Amino acid sequence: MMLLAYSIYPLLWGGSVVTLVVAMSAGVPYPWIGPPLLIGVALAVAALERLQPHAREWLRDRGDRRTDVAHFVANVAVSQGSLALLAALAPVRAMLPSAWPGAWPLALQVVIATLVVDLGLYAIHRASHVVPALWRLHAIHHSAERIYWVNGQRRHVVHELLEGAPGLLLLFALGAPVSIIAAAIAVVTLHLFFQHANVEYRLGPLRHVFAVAEVHRWHHQRRYEDVQGNYAAVFALWDHLFGTALPKQGDAPLDVGLEEHVPRDFVGQLRWPFRVDSFQDPSRAARHEHVDLPNRSETR
Ligand SMILES: [Zn+2]
Repeated sequence: MMLLAYSIYPLLWGGSVVTLVVAMSAGVPYPWIGPPLLIGVALAVAALERLQPHAREWLRDRGDRRTDVAHFVANVAVSQGSLALLAALAPVRAMLPSAWPGAWPLALQVVIATLVVDLGLYAIHRASHVVPALWRLHAIHHSAERIYWVNGQRRHVVHELLEGAPGLLLLFALGAPVSIIAAAIAVVTLHLFFQHANVEYRLGPLRHVFAVAEVHRWHHQRRYEDVQGNYAAVFALWDHLFGTALPKQGDAPLDVGLEEHVPRDFVGQLRWPFRVDSFQDPSRAARHEHVDLPNRSETR
């Protein structure tokens, strides 16, 4: 069982990333390989949640599945729509000089693009824990009361756009081909399935490199003061590099969520950050003024 726990992420995430890169290097167009891989891995993670759950109580639908599926569909539409927009603008971009290393091996280009997208996600996520207006959008993600593969996408659509924009726009400005940007988004999305997967899997010391579920679950503790770190989406390296890794070992508490009340329905969650009363909650204002950051020096 232990061997299975340690092989799940390398086999499924690592295996699908290698398959994607090898296929594209052999000339297979992204749309032929990317979406089938994403669907296949999603199904595998969903099955593993039933076969080998991290927390059995997180398997139960708490009336949140419908909301999470709606966020999932909305955010897939946003990311695919963004790629379609970039593809439509690509002929215009092609008229300008490119700074992208397009002659380098495709695998290296995908790694660089993933690092760029992931650093953008890290930066906006970290800012979202500091800037109150961004926190109201991001609080939707923290309002989940269990962690499972679907609610890795429980993100306000506006926040999804804000998080993805820096990486995507920078890559496009540099002249990266849209197929490389699409591959990077697929690599991140495949990882996010695992970051939230309610699957008992482990990564050993490599959890300091990849922000897998055992790292990310600490970011979902209920108290706002406790979740000011472990911001990384794919590469936990960012948290170690910038001193924001939470000094936590072992398994995070299963009691996850948010102290403040956020509506449970999809439309209610889309509207909540813009409601006047969400701006004026004195308990939240107090929390933002008295953020007790964890002692980062313990992480080094
Ligand atoms: Zn967060």
